Amino acid sequence: MQGGNMAGTMKAIVKTAAGAGALELRDVPVPEISGRDVLVRVRKAAICGTDVHIFKWDAWAQRTIKAPMTIGHEFVGEIVEVGGEVRGLEPGMLVSSEGHVVCGRCRWCITGHQHLCRATSGIGVNRNGIFAEYASIPATNIWRCDKRLPENVLAVQDPLGNAVHTALTFNVQGEDVLITGAGPIGLMSIPILRMTGARNVVITDVNPGRLALARELGATEALDVRSEKIADAMERLGMAEGFDVGLEMSGNPAAFSGMVDCMANGGKIAILGIFSDRIEIDWNKVIFRALTLKGIYGRQMYDTWYKMTSLLQSGLAEKVAKTITHELDHTDFQKGFDAMAEGKAIKVILDWTTAGGKK
Ligand code: NAD
Ligand code: ZN
Repeated sequence: MQGGNMAGTMKAIVKTAAGAGALELRDVPVPEISGRDVLVRVRKAAICGTDVHIFKWDAWAQRTIKAPMTIGHEFVGEIVEVGGEVRGLEPGMLVSSEGHVVCGRCRWCITGHQHLCRATSGIGVNRNGIFAEYASIPATNIWRCDKRLPENVLAVQDPLGNAVHTALTFNVQGEDVLITGAGPIGLMSIPILRMTGARNVVITDVNPGRLALARELGATEALDVRSEKIADAMERLGMAEGFDVGLEMSGNPAAFSGMVDCMANGGKIAILGIFSDRIEIDWNKVIFRALTLKGIYGRQMYDTWYKMTSLLQSGLAEKVAKTITHELDHTDFQKGFDAMAEGKAIKVILDWTTAGGKK
């Protein structure tokens, strides 16, 4: 196994052509690895909102994706081969990976701020992904996993890392926190904020099922903004001054603007949600209340991964498991994409351990 690349073909979910749909389980060559890569046998993968954008072929996907290519970036798997220059990684290790491959040479990369690299290439977005039996991953991107943790949870560390990075951006100890958007990332943020000492965690959405799960995960209040006002919840909670910390996780302009309106003086907002267009907020509130706004992209390499592992080992894994609503065989991937597109799923796991590709 070591010393030579694996020959032969494997199954992979390929975006076969530009346009809506066009996802197929195909036979493709097992990827080659360079001296600095490892070959991973994928065990469990998860469908991300990004994959649904590629499936639907929205404006972002049209600009970004070059078909044909293998998609997917959320996974856990086992190393089966390591490149000749790789040290410290061995076949048999259970691993996941950071989905952003960075240049390694720019000002930010060499000073330990790889999340700010301008030449980032996304696994399953700008290069072949991991919805496949095998994936070639740069060794620098590999994150070793604790085998005592559930594999399904280890497979969703990419979005969980977004939640950890955003929720830990500002100190929340004893603070009142507002999350807009109870998607997978907003939901995962609730137990993180609880574990790191927030007082009130209020979350908003327009999806009753997601709001119910938010309550189960420990939200103080979970509000359907179609019928409930954030100001009423603040009154119930005896909050006179507004929220100290805001996490924007909806990508909805009205949600963000509403968040700016109910921040306390000196409040801090971390913005993860991606808006499809330019948006308006009341900038005078930002100024007169002396708010801090911070954009969040990806995960910090590798502070976020380290903290995430610690949190998972300290009880977060049981909470994150509740966000996994579907577990499907990889051959049933279309059902998973449909459930995601219809808003019926939160996290969908695809099982690749049943794939029969022989090395
Ligand atoms: P998601 O789209 O499943 O979650 C968004 C949630 O916001 C949904 O549950 C939706 O019902 C809710 N929502 C819609 N309108 C709302 C409103 N007016 N008020 C409150 N909630 C409302 O996505 P996700 O996977 O949890 O990701 C969250 C956001 O983060 C998305 O915008 C995604 O594109 C973005 N994202 C950014 C990064 C990054 O690096 N910056 C990485 C991953 C995801
Ligand atoms: Zn993702």
